[in-house]
This record gives sequence, structure tokens and C-alpha cells, in this order.
Amino acid sequence: MTGLVCAGVAACGDSANTTTAVVESVAAAPSTPAPPDPAAVAANELGVVPVLMYHQLSPHPAGDYDQTPEEFRAELERLFREGYRPITMAQYGSGEIDLPAGTHPVVLTFDDSTGSQVRFGDDGILAPDCAVAILQDVAAAQTPAVAPRATFYVNNDPFAGDGRALPWLAAHGYEIGAHTADHSNLGQLNADGVQRELVQNVRAITAAVPGIDVRTMALPLGVFPSDHALAAAGTWEGTAYRFDTVLLVGANPAPSPYGPVDHGAVPRIRSGRGEVPFDSAYWLDRLAADPAQRYTADGDPARISYPRAGGADPDPRWASRANPY
Ligand SMILES: [Zn+2]
Repeated sequence: MTGLVCAGVAACGDSANTTTAVVESVAAAPSTPAPPDPAAVAANELGVVPVLMYHQLSPHPAGDYDQTPEEFRAELERLFREGYRPITMAQYGSGEIDLPAGTHPVVLTFDDSTGSQVRFGDDGILAPDCAVAILQDVAAAQTPAVAPRATFYVNNDPFAGDGRALPWLAAHGYEIGAHTADHSNLGQLNADGVQRELVQNVRAITAAVPGIDVRTMALPLGVFPSDHALAAAGTWEGTAYRFDTVLLVGANPAPSPYGPVDHGAVPRIRSGRGEVPFDSAYWLDRLAADPAQRYTADGDPARISYPRAGGADPDPRWASRANPY
């Protein structure tokens, strides 16, 4: 695998951010319940967001990016136990994050549209050992149940050519993103070729799910085209594409969507066989040891709450929603 792997250094701030400030009371509208107290849940909506990258599930993993169904299930159980709740990449891109107070967003992304991610039996029922079935099962088993969300970065003829898969994903609230028609190394194509790969991919997705808006993309192998801008927007044979967010392959948590963030190059963390440097186990351990780094939701999508003592502010375009405490 020739993925572009970034230096595994998180954007870590001061870890001594214990916040004891008294919060100003927020006047609630008479008919609505008072919003949660951000200090009570240590809300920090300027904290980092792990974007996890999954590939194949296999009982006998071969590549470094593969893992067993049991390993995948165990990681989901850990995430939910530690208060993570899934959002889609499109939610990250738009800042529409609607999580309960005190929980942490995680983005589950699946690349390459293999049959191990979404597969149906002859009866049309999801195979119980495919990734999306495991996600649904583990999410439903939580108390209260967790909304299963994920983003699938698909190539053409996805999921072993099973035409049921993309409509099923869209109907069940999962995001479908672009990963090029043929899993091409965009660094080896000219501008016309790059745009052809992305337009043919978006056309195939929209043919399978009419009306869908393909809002985010993941670079195959983490490789940019020589003109980086073509990863996010372009046109080929009369069809245009424009993505809110472009995803890399490595190797550290993504910044808060409300802080300074380059939506043209959002990092992901790989999850796979065993432990490799800067993988999901490494980062989940590190964030558990230093929870002030994490994005922690305040329970009110209209506010962006964060401890004033952290010394950071949202990007100016989010200033009207800022709620330092
Ligand atoms: Zn890929």
C-alpha cells in the first residue's frame, strides 16, 4: 500500500485544560427545555474528531488494512463504551453535528466497496458477518440504542456488483461518497483522466440512487492529482462534481470542523490487523488518556461550546454560534 501517511502528530494543545469556570446561565425559550450546561459535560466542540478508515473484513486477514469481523465488532463496542457516537463525513463537512451532550463524534469510513462491507443472502437479508450488519447489531445493542451511521467510499460496480447495496445504504441513512470509478491513482492521470474518473464514479452512484448528492470523496491510496483542486471539483463531458470534503489516508485525528480546517485534505486513522503506528488503537488510547483533546458535544447543535481556558476560538465563519464558557 502506497498511501500518503502524514506525520502522526496530533494537533495537541495544552493538556492541563481542567475547567472549573462558572457558566453563565443561558436563558431558555419558555417552551423549550434549557440546553445542557456545557461545563457539566466538559463540552469541547473545538476538540479533535477521529475519522476511522476501514477496508476488508476477513476471517483470515491478509493485508495490513484488513481485520476480522470480531476485531471490527470489538472496536465498535469500545467506541460506544467510551462515549463515541457515529456521524457521517457529510455531517462533519457541513458542521451539522447533532449528538447528545457529553458524547464524542467518530466518523466510520469504509473504502473500496468490497462485499465484506455490504452483502446480502439469497433471501435479501444482510449477511450477519458483513461490516454494516455488525455495525447495525452493535449500535442497536446499546442502551439507549445508537444511530448507526457511516460513510462508504465506493468504486464502480460496488459490493461485488450487487445492485441492491447502494439503494439499501441510502435508504438506511448511510452516506455514499466517491472513491473514483476504477480506484485509480490520481497522481498518474492527466487532468482529463482525473475528472473522467470522478465523473464516471458520481454518475454510477447517482444512477443507482437517483437524486443522491455525493458530497465527500476519499483519495484512492491517499494520492492527490497533480492539480489538487481537481480532487474537490471538476467537469467531464458535461457533468460536474463538487465535494465538500476530501479525505486522506493517514494518520491522525481530524481537527474540529469548527476550527481552522482544510476541507481539501482531512486526515483519517486506519484500523486494521494488529497494531501499527498511529492506528485506531493508538489514537483511542491516547485520546482516552487525554480526554480534553477530544471533541465533546454540548447537546445543542445550535451552539459551539468550548472552554475559554483553551485559548482557541472557532473559525470566523462559525463565530455567531460560539459559546465559550
Ligand atoms: Zn481505496
